[in-house]
Amino acid sequence: MAKKKETKKKKAKELFAEFPNQYKVASDDDIAATMAFAEEYKAFLDSSKTEREFTKNAVASAEELGFVDISTKDTLKAGDKVYSTIKGKGFAAAVIGKKGPEAGFNILGAHIDSPRLDLKPNPIFEDNDTVYFKTHYYGGIKKYQWTTIPLAVHGVVFTNDGKSHEICVGEKDDDPIFYITDLLPHLGNAQMAKKASEFIPAEDLNVIIGGIPVRDGKSKEKEIYKEAILKLLSDQYGITEKDFVSAEIEIVPATKARDVGFDRAYIAAYGHDDKVCAYPALRALLAQEKPARTCVTMLTDKEEIGSYANSGASSYLYENFLMELLAKADGGIDKFNTLKFRKALAATKMLSTDVTTAYDPKYASVFEKRNTAFMSCGLKIEKYTGARGKSGCSEATGDFIAEITDILDSNSIPWQTGELGKIDAGGGGTIAAVMAELGMDVVDMGVPVWSMHAPIEVISKIDLYFLYLGYKAFIENIK
Ligand code: MN
Ligand code: MN
Repeated sequence: MAKKKETKKKKAKELFAEFPNQYKVASDDDIAATMAFAEEYKAFLDSSKTEREFTKNAVASAEELGFVDISTKDTLKAGDKVYSTIKGKGFAAAVIGKKGPEAGFNILGAHIDSPRLDLKPNPIFEDNDTVYFKTHYYGGIKKYQWTTIPLAVHGVVFTNDGKSHEICVGEKDDDPIFYITDLLPHLGNAQMAKKASEFIPAEDLNVIIGGIPVRDGKSKEKEIYKEAILKLLSDQYGITEKDFVSAEIEIVPATKARDVGFDRAYIAAYGHDDKVCAYPALRALLAQEKPARTCVTMLTDKEEIGSYANSGASSYLYENFLMELLAKADGGIDKFNTLKFRKALAATKMLSTDVTTAYDPKYASVFEKRNTAFMSCGLKIEKYTGARGKSGCSEATGDFIAEITDILDSNSIPWQTGELGKIDAGGGGTIAAVMAELGMDVVDMGVPVWSMHAPIEVISKIDLYFLYLGYKAFIENIK
């Protein structure tokens, strides 16, 4: 590492912090690699819109490269590759390092849930000869953005007989889509005068799912449109109305990831937050063979609503996975020693791999330009998140940041820094605070996003590519 510089006199140019646009300064080889990596990401994203789908695809990718379920191993040694799913909605995988888990873990942690509309437990109703799903939105959304766009239904229904019934409609070219109406502008005077947070009430986010009644003339039911849909659901999926109480169905945009711009610089897609970090975090781990320190990637659920539940980052199940790694590398689970584990956590270094917002000149007033991330200027290191006077933030130590920037600079990986936006404009948090409680060093590192939390968000391909290289450099080099 280039530490000799310290004694040399700096040129004036080297005294300033500069974060140039990478499409301007990157090599042709890096641009080509950027475009290739983006294709792989888009393909993975299109089949991983929900946390369950992402987990399933992560397991498949890991198994293809020789990873096995950790429960199948009694002991672990350097080079062993293991994974575990967390309730089918989260994922943790590791490659055991030469030093063993006792020396601490190098962790990449992303979340794989994204803002969306969930179904209510009793969701189906009929009104004016049309059948609808009632929804309950999940995460921070602008409700009006979810009307008049093509929607897909993804999820699983668990029935009392122990079976699960998967549903995914709206993704294939010849699939129907689902839809939430809005008012025509001609009659919108009163609506348009309302605040944006109020003009589409949450109870109006009702999704059209049908409009043809039972037509044999024999039905004794009052709601023959709903009856026809219930019959269809029963025939196609083996489920009844009551089964929705044990369903996990998510309404997501029915669109594929698409390039943006004549030059294809950007990608527009549903769920970049936080799959644009989860995907490279997974890839960086899968590329490991026999790392120096034990490398782990954790993909968590429920971040968008506070990291709660047994699949969220606060769940002990993620900690259990780390415990199991340590115990099994130490001779077996009966060899587990709590203090050894706590010390390993204290020696652990982690990136909370989550997105941030990108400066948008249209909304310049909420950004402080010297301290915000710009599109295509490389990955962003966010020393702390939180709101107001750093409330609820997890702040990384300066020496940990220096260790990271040294690794990035030594590997020629462009990075930028800053906060989310102006201090008084709002704020936000990530899983960093949860993991910091365990004593590890943790800091946020991700890419800037335009229209974050909108049904379709935008990222820059070159930021994604360097993010992947950055995550890889981190888990391979951090000590
Ligand atoms: Mn996020
Ligand atoms: Mn988010």
